[in-house]
Amino acid sequence: MIAYLDQQQQRLALDGDGEAETSAAGSDDHLAVLRALDLQAAADPPAVAAAAEDFGGIAHARPAAIIRPATADDVAASILLAARSSRLTVAARGNGHSVNGQAMADGGLVLDMRSLGPPMELVRVSTAAGGCAAVDVPGGALWEEVLEWGIRRHGMAPASWTDYLRLTVGGTLSNGGISGQAFRHGPQIANVLELEVVTGNGERVVCSAAAHPDLFFAALGGLGQFGVITRARIPLLPAPRMVKWMRVVYDRFEEYSGDAEWLVTRPEPDAFDYVEGFVFVNSADSVNGWPSVPFSPDSPFDPAIIPAGSGPVLYCLEVALHFNQHECDTIDQRACAMMRPLRYIRGLEFAVEATYVDFLSRVKRAEDAARANGTWAAPHPWLNLLMASSDIVDFDRNVFKRILKDGIGGPMLVYPLLRSKWDRRTSVAVPESEIFYLVALLRFSRLCSEGGAAAELQAQNREIVECCLSNGYDFKLYLPHYQSEADWARHFGRDWPRFVERKARYDPLAILAPGQKLFSRSR
Ligand code: FAD
Repeated sequence: MIAYLDQQQQRLALDGDGEAETSAAGSDDHLAVLRALDLQAAADPPAVAAAAEDFGGIAHARPAAIIRPATADDVAASILLAARSSRLTVAARGNGHSVNGQAMADGGLVLDMRSLGPPMELVRVSTAAGGCAAVDVPGGALWEEVLEWGIRRHGMAPASWTDYLRLTVGGTLSNGGISGQAFRHGPQIANVLELEVVTGNGERVVCSAAAHPDLFFAALGGLGQFGVITRARIPLLPAPRMVKWMRVVYDRFEEYSGDAEWLVTRPEPDAFDYVEGFVFVNSADSVNGWPSVPFSPDSPFDPAIIPAGSGPVLYCLEVALHFNQHECDTIDQRACAMMRPLRYIRGLEFAVEATYVDFLSRVKRAEDAARANGTWAAPHPWLNLLMASSDIVDFDRNVFKRILKDGIGGPMLVYPLLRSKWDRRTSVAVPESEIFYLVALLRFSRLCSEGGAAAELQAQNREIVECCLSNGYDFKLYLPHYQSEADWARHFGRDWPRFVERKARYDPLAILAPGQKLFSRSR
């Protein structure tokens, strides 16, 4: 295990200057802990500075030290060291893709989960149905690495993904992990057979639905509050070779949502493999408007086809079908038959074929473009909601057609998911109704780097949440961010007492994941 200390903390820890220690760092026991870390490595200010930031670019909190654990025992040792002090906290940092400081530890220890081993390993798991293949993955592995490993070595892959794959296994399992496969296979937290977790008590526990089920389900969607996920066992399926990827356009939200809900409730043999969708502006705007729909300039968007009297925004349903070599001749026919009942605007259809890996890696291409134009590094005041289907038409009227009618400088996702695919025993909070929508406002704007713009967009996010509250919508924040206990209690609703009890059981000193601002460290 290697620890990199903030320079000032390192000087204090090494000098052992009691007076300076107490005034600068606050307490002697805190410094005793820092001294106990392996200080052979030089201070690494860039690593410490990086852990003070995240993808959101809005929250900032400098840790006392970054720890690069190689094993679960290193994670346990770090947590036990922190427990010896009166105020140190520990945050597991996946790839730092949170947007509100959730993986930060102000003055605490940040575990760089990317350093964790061992390498991925294929395992055979026996089930009632005879057995399945699975992969044991370290908590800090990227989903992109899991895909690459599974396809290259075994021709297999997990069933449920996120849109973007440079996220860590432990990071998305602490939240949910949602993409267009979730309506069919459930979110990523519904696709886990076993976890190894190091609790806030410093105990390493292997848990599953059968062994230590309470900890297993607590950790899934648990916002890092109950333990650090050091290993996950993810089931694998044979991977398809190819994907037929299609987009169609609607001008009426009721038809868009009606068709999307019909698609996600089709029985398995008649179902697409992927269903998503997004809202875009009914204009020629190159980022927010018509050009955001076609896959290539060879098949441009023809605005003349849009019905007269359409509103300020339009809707794009995005679906995909997996296929293999022997199905090449029939895939178009199958796709046509599945699209025929849908009520989209005829003539506004777009399709492309891609390898399965290219399809799953689609946001990496968007990342390259965003890095090139400066919007990847700019702040990202994002908002993610889960909204009951009973309220989504009203939400569209109040939010998409009014507050966001000019777009947000990035995707505005809206697509349905099924409650029955989410296990109630996990910690994540979702709306009550069987069908609910993911609404993701993924702002990419260079303007956010300029003074005030990010704050204005955060204010717009608050306006949207206020609108949802005042209209009494059945909704939850996804990747939630709250400051007060009352807000967290409302977020978890009737499951709040369970969340609090689990915290008392697995992390009684509230050492873990302080950046979620759920509980305060106690002595
Ligand atoms: P971090 O941001 O580093 O950590 C997130 C939280 O989990 C923190 O509280 C941290 O302390 C805790 N944590 C991290 N690792 C562990 C661990 N091993 N054990 C316990 N706790 C841990 N989400 C989706 O569901 N679907 C998407 O399609 C999707 N697309 C995205 C695209 C982009 C470009 C970005 C930036 C984010 C996207 N997300 C998506 C959100 C993503 O799920 C979250 O950012 C999530 O937190 C994972 O990011 P991370 O691995 O970097 O975790």
